[in-house]
Amino acid sequence: ADRLRQAASSGPGRTADGHPVELLLNIGSAADLAPGADAEGVGLFRTEFLFLDRREEPGFDEQVAAYEAVFRAFPGGKVVVRTLDAGSDKPLPFLGAAPEPNPALGVRGLRVARGRPGVLDTQLDAIAEAARVSGAQPWVMAPMVSTVAEADDFAARARARGITRVGAMIEVPAAALRADRLLERLDFLSIGTNDLSQYAFAADRQHGGLADLLDPWQPGLLALIAGCARAGLAAGKPVGVCGEAAADPLLAPVLAGLGVTSLSMSAPGLAPVRDALARRTLQRCREDARLALDADGPERAREAVAADR
Ligand code: PEP
Ligand code: MG
Repeated sequence: ADRLRQAASSGPGRTADGHPVELLLNIGSAADLAPGADAEGVGLFRTEFLFLDRREEPGFDEQVAAYEAVFRAFPGGKVVVRTLDAGSDKPLPFLGAAPEPNPALGVRGLRVARGRPGVLDTQLDAIAEAARVSGAQPWVMAPMVSTVAEADDFAARARARGITRVGAMIEVPAAALRADRLLERLDFLSIGTNDLSQYAFAADRQHGGLADLLDPWQPGLLALIAGCARAGLAAGKPVGVCGEAAADPLLAPVLAGLGVTSLSMSAPGLAPVRDALARRTLQRCREDARLALDADGPERAREAVAADR
């Protein structure tokens, strides 16, 4: 028991029987890299914070400096950079986009590249340059990918710049249902449960009155995650979770049991999640995942897993 407790207090994420589940940080800039945060890398670098409140697009050199600062903080480690996720709840004045009646269903995330491909290309150039000068090998993913064609287009742009680990966020149910096809051309997937919930349940993620639908324990959401994780296991490629769901210590073993290979969260979530994983074998995690998937609703799912101690 002592050995287990020690294993849980620091170091890489592991189940009680040693199955690895990478524990990663969500950040918006190098300033979010809390000193001493015991993470194995960065699972979600939300680059849009560099672009917010700007009248003009941040220049190439400024972008290189911002990305380089993060790469240098994890020498040789994993850093997953997400390209600009503009639009909807993150409007960017410099894009000068026309108002939309349904911004969450409009030109957001990777879709911005339809009208403004130069913004994405400059960002990919800057990521590639920051990688070159810092000797990093970043993982780069696009937000709000909906189709295989979009993934192909993004991957071609990234690989043309020498970026070798190219992925997509899974935030749109149609993309989750095509995870196997996406993994034929991409190196990894990262499930954004905040948006995946919003789009799967047709419930605005900022609508407090619909919190029950946005509950990450909704078996319908877990089924989508399960399908992605299964595709990842079949392809031998990583499938992580980087939405708020990853930081729930009761849910983390369920996600591991579904086959998710990494969990990315803000710094305070790391220790409780590490501890929860270290207390269960992978087999137990799988049993908890089964209980949660079989439940009739989020409350029942929680109760079933909590009772299985
Ligand atoms: C998500 O949608 O779950 C996600 C991680 O991205 P963001 O919260 O930045 O939209
Ligand atoms: Mg999102």
